[in-house]
Amino acid sequence: METTVEERPAAQAGVAPVQEVIAALSAHFGERLAIGRAIREQHANTITWLPNEAPDAVVFVESTEEVQRVVRACAKHHVPVIAFGTGSSLEGQINAPQGGISVDLSRMNRVLSVHPEDLDCVVEPGVTRKQLNEHLRDAGLFFPIDPGADASLGGMASTRASGTNAVRYGTMKDNVVALTVVLANGEVITTARRAKKSSAGYDLTRLLVGAEGTLGIITSLTLRLAGIPEAISGGVCAFPTIRAACDAVILTIQSGLPVARIELLDEVQVRACNAYSKLDLAEQPTLFVEFHGTEASVHEQSERFRDIAAEYGGGGFRWATRPEERTRLWQARHDAYWACLPLKPGAKALATDVCVPLSRLADCVDETKREIEEMGMLAPIVGHVGDGNFHTVTLVDMSDPQDVAKAKDFISRMVKRSLAMGGTATGEHGVGQGKRGYMEAEHGAATLDAMRAIKQALDPQNIMNPGKILP
Ligand SMILES: Cc1cc2nc3c(=O)[nH]c(=O)nc-3n(C[C@H](O)[C@H](O)[C@H](O)COP(=O)(O)OP(=O)(O)OC[C@H]3O[C@@H](n4cnc5c(N)ncnc54)[C@H](O)[C@@H]3O)c2cc1C
Repeated sequence: METTVEERPAAQAGVAPVQEVIAALSAHFGERLAIGRAIREQHANTITWLPNEAPDAVVFVESTEEVQRVVRACAKHHVPVIAFGTGSSLEGQINAPQGGISVDLSRMNRVLSVHPEDLDCVVEPGVTRKQLNEHLRDAGLFFPIDPGADASLGGMASTRASGTNAVRYGTMKDNVVALTVVLANGEVITTARRAKKSSAGYDLTRLLVGAEGTLGIITSLTLRLAGIPEAISGGVCAFPTIRAACDAVILTIQSGLPVARIELLDEVQVRACNAYSKLDLAEQPTLFVEFHGTEASVHEQSERFRDIAAEYGGGGFRWATRPEERTRLWQARHDAYWACLPLKPGAKALATDVCVPLSRLADCVDETKREIEEMGMLAPIVGHVGDGNFHTVTLVDMSDPQDVAKAKDFISRMVKRSLAMGGTATGEHGVGQGKRGYMEAEHGAATLDAMRAIKQALDPQNIMNPGKILP
């Protein structure tokens, strides 16, 4: 199968197409269309080592109709259109390598309806995960997907995000029921109804979840909710080696223990979190765990976990019994990325994540750890290990070409190792620009061609977030 995605035409002589779009949109959007450098740069990658590639303008939309208006103007002039949630993605997803219009969805932040009896809700894409959980708290419900950042639900769906709760509650792929999407031609589609399951046709919801804004712009999401558990217990447990901690995770999951969260921090990450979040944990490989259920069931789960941990030398258990203590621990876990940065002042972080089948977790983490030491790098390991997913945050002096080359080599080896073990180049951060180069090794040429055919069918002009996912 041979398909090509049309490249953006070079600007014609005279007024550049993007200026025509800006002129066309400014009458309607007024001050909600911004072209100042600072705001444009804020709407491109600012977090990681990837360069900041700013769009030509930022439009703050407030409705599906306004998204249609922007997309239609961009389609008319073959200008890229890049959706923006909160900009917390880590692989350059919001960069505008070919310029274009950034569509900021943060003002589309209404919770449209909550259906407690069906355990679902409908939200606009700019609602953030914390905002939704504030809204749901009184109903005794919560939305479990919790990336470290307070990301938007549209952005989370688009990167197929997960987080610490995914081991129990699944990722965005499991918790998005339906989407409303503005396609590249300006048409609006709805991908599914609110029914819990359906066999009616192609699953466009799953196609759009993880598409990183390359197939359309999400303007509403129907999400699955969970009940706030009656009882929660959790704590931290230190291990003699990182392999022992991973082996304890593998046995915990294989035993069918319904752990709600199980997160690994290596001793370097623990040291960073101690300093950043004012904790006093033993600086050893450590698991953060949490159990959800009734009082009796969480007690039983905690006991079983304690036995499993003991088999691998895990000890020094610290239970966080009070809710504030638990919140403090988990906030420290969520801040792990920021905690790494002061370890090497002035350095940039090459955050990367891979995910392997659970049975290969200990091998993959262990080999990665050994390589970090052998290569003499500073790269704490932290991960949602219950899913076989872990991250390294490699700290790099961007002014030193050798340091940069070494870090890139390390990331490439890590991805190759994951692929060789049956894993993936990214468990949750997505592809963006940073992981595009690994797509062929992961999927093979024929699968990539099938993806290109989908892209070509839905976005023949290649205006939706070009330069992402597909190499
Ligand atoms: C400290 C820190 C910790 C993190 N921890 C995790 C973690 O544990 N798990 C995890 O999965 N990720 C994590 N991330 C990454 C990040 O939070 C996620 O990728 C998140 O899903 C991005 O959401 P956002 O709203 O910031 O999206 P953005 O960064 O604004 O956008 C991400 C992508 O989605 C597209 N997009 C945004 N909104 C829409 C829309 N409405 N329609 C179509 N496309 C859209 C954009 O074009 C872009 O391609 C972390 C990031 C940081 C900084």
